[in-house]
Order: sequence, then C-alpha cells, then structure tokens
Amino acid sequence: DLHGGEKFQIMYRSQKDEAGRIVRHSDIVYTSLTVGGKARKLYVYEPPKGPVQYLNERGQGNRRALMKTPIDGARLTSRFGYRKHPLLGFTKLHAGVDFGARPGTPIYAAGDGTIVKIGWFGTYGRYIRIRHGSVYETAYAHMSRFRRGLRVGSRVKQGDTVGYVGSSGRSTGPHLHYEVIRNGRQVNPMKIALPSRKNLKGRELKQFLAHRKEIDARYAALGKANERQRQGSVQTVRSDAAAGCRNGVRTDPKDTRPCN
Ligand SMILES: [Zn+2]
Repeated sequence: DLHGGEKFQIMYRSQKDEAGRIVRHSDIVYTSLTVGGKARKLYVYEPPKGPVQYLNERGQGNRRALMKTPIDGARLTSRFGYRKHPLLGFTKLHAGVDFGARPGTPIYAAGDGTIVKIGWFGTYGRYIRIRHGSVYETAYAHMSRFRRGLRVGSRVKQGDTVGYVGSSGRSTGPHLHYEVIRNGRQVNPMKIALPSRKNLKGRELKQFLAHRKEIDARYAALGKANERQRQGSVQTVRSDAAAGCRNGVRTDPKDTRPCN
C-alpha cells in the first residue's frame, strides 16, 4: 500500500512516426518504487528463450514462495496423509496439515492472491480459499471468524491476516487446518516444490546484467536530457532579460517591442 511520500518511476519505449512524433507508448522496461528512501527497482526482462520476467538488480524474481506455516507460534499437530480419523474411527486421507494454536491466533494469507471462497463450508467450518495464480490455491479451515471486510474477489498480500483460529465445523479443538491445492488437488504443503523465487544464474544472469547495464545507461541519459531541457529554459529567460525582457514581459514598460 502507498501512503504518500513515495516516488514511482517508469521508463517505457515509445514509437515515433516518420516525422519524429510519438505515436504510441508501449513496453514498460523499468520501474522504480522509492519507499522510505529505499528504491526498489524492477527490470522487465525478456530473455532469449522463455517468458518475460520481472527481476530486481541482482536478477532475482520478486514472486515469493507460499508460506509453509501461515500462522505464528503454532505446533504441527497432524500431518498430511492417511490416518485414523479421531472422531469417525475409519482411515481417511487427511488432505492438509493441522496447526494447534490458541483460539483467536491470526491466520495469514500464505501468498499474494484472490479470495475465491469465504464462508461456512460443511465439516471445514469457517473456511477461506485463496487462488495464487493459475496453479496453486491455499485453504484455511475451522476459523473462529474472518477478518472484517473480506469477500470473494478480495485481493490479499502474503502475510495479511485473513482470519482467526477457532474450532468451527468438525474439529476436536482449536486449530488451523491448512491445505495447499495444486491444479485442483490437495498436496502435502510440507513436501511439494512451492512456487519459488526465480533467480537467474550463470549465462542467463550474465545476459540479464548486460541488459540491465543498457537500461541503466539509457535511464541515466534520460535524466541528463531532462536536466539539459531545464537548463535550456533557464537560459532562455536569461537571454530575454539581457534583451530587456523577463519571463516574456518587457522590464521597461515604455518599451513596446514584443519579447519574442
Ligand atoms: Zn486437518
């Protein structure tokens, strides 16, 4: 969230027609967001092979992994897998992991995403499901309550509180039942390869750093061009003053000659 005092810069390519007029702005190639004096730079990089990537100065992707434990100070009380159901007695797939925690403990969104389900969901009790991109979803069950204002379609950031630990639905005591769903199927949150930061290495990193150098040089040149323009306008005023004008107005009111 932005709270004022931040600086946001974008550099983009523009297309010019034969007369040199800009006809279209396109392709953002660089952005910089300065918050609290710290600049977070993001380079839009299209590698020789593969999709467009959004990388920081060091060639690291900014997509963060899903959290394995979306709750603080909790202990793992039941793992993913087949087990004897404590209430029903028969063997059943436990499709998530359980974290025992005090009632009211905040539950966090495991990653950036959109809420696709929120409300009472049978044996899950108070339940939230969040979609993170096209492959992964996470689900949180047995909550005592949801964070106020959340609804289907709400955007959440990793670490945002979405609700609080409870024992709603079919539950033996206060805990979070947490599921990671990959392409529609529950998988073991502790075992799967979670979406990780995409960091460039080796030759790929070298190619990116060369690209970055070019972008930085163009950005610096752009800054100098703006500076020259500013100095140019100052000089125009000075030359006006020398000719008896200041800011386009004659300094001597009796002088009726036009200023430019
Ligand atoms: Zn469970």
